This record gives sequence, structure tokens and C-alpha cells, in this order.
Amino acid sequence: MNEQKLEPCSCGGEAKVIKDVLGFWAVECKSCLTRLGVSDTKEEIIEAWNDMRRKEMTEEKLKPCPFCGKEPVYVADGKVICVCGATMRSFNDWKPFTNQEAVDRWNKRYKEQDDEKTD
Ligand SMILES: [Zn+2]
Ligand SMILES: [Zn+2]
Repeated sequence: MNEQKLEPCSCGGEAKVIKDVLGFWAVECKSCLTRLGVSDTKEEIIEAWNDMRRKEMTEEKLKPCPFCGKEPVYVADGKVICVCGATMRSFNDWKPFTNQEAVDRWNKRYKEQDDEKTD
């Protein structure tokens, strides 16, 4: 079985895939009952949920680029990438970052650059 993993809900609760009475798929949080629906396929609704969660995390957490000062920097496949070409990714190909780790590293670098400037 090749189940795609669901990101947890923004409330921290566990999300689950459900099938409604009409046979459509949806994702629902077990804690706060936030629901995202509906889709014809399970894969699609999982992808949509995870996408939504990734965007939420990005909006909350990602700082503008320390090099060009622009947004949008965005997160994909464990990398933060700016339009100017600046990236933050794992240098260990055998152990890539999760998107969240990449965002954390990116923000840490941003903060360091900021500290240098205040000199
Ligand atoms: Zn929730
Ligand atoms: Zn940039």
C-alpha cells in the first residue's frame, strides 16, 4: 500500500481522509473538524490538503529574501527558492530537508544577515 501522508491540521490535530455519502473524498481534522472537500480521487484531496497546509506554513513563517529583499520566496521539495535565485536547501542529498526545516533555516539566515546590518 502506498498511502500519501497527510500533513497535520493547522490546529495541530490529526487529519483524516473521509468519503462522503455521495462517494466524494474529503479531508477532515479530527480535532477542530476543519474540512476540505471534495474531490473525485483520494490522491487529489490529499494533495490539495497538503498544498493548503504548506501555503499556510509559508505565509506564517517565511521571511523575505535577505539578498534582494523581495518576496515571493517559496517552498518546494524541501527547498526555499527566491525569484533572484537565492536558495536554502539541504547540502546532504541523502538527507533532504522537510519543507519546514528549509523554512526554519531560511529564516535563521535572514536573522543573521539582519544582525550583521545593525553594526
Ligand atoms: Zn484542526
Ligand atoms: Zn532574492
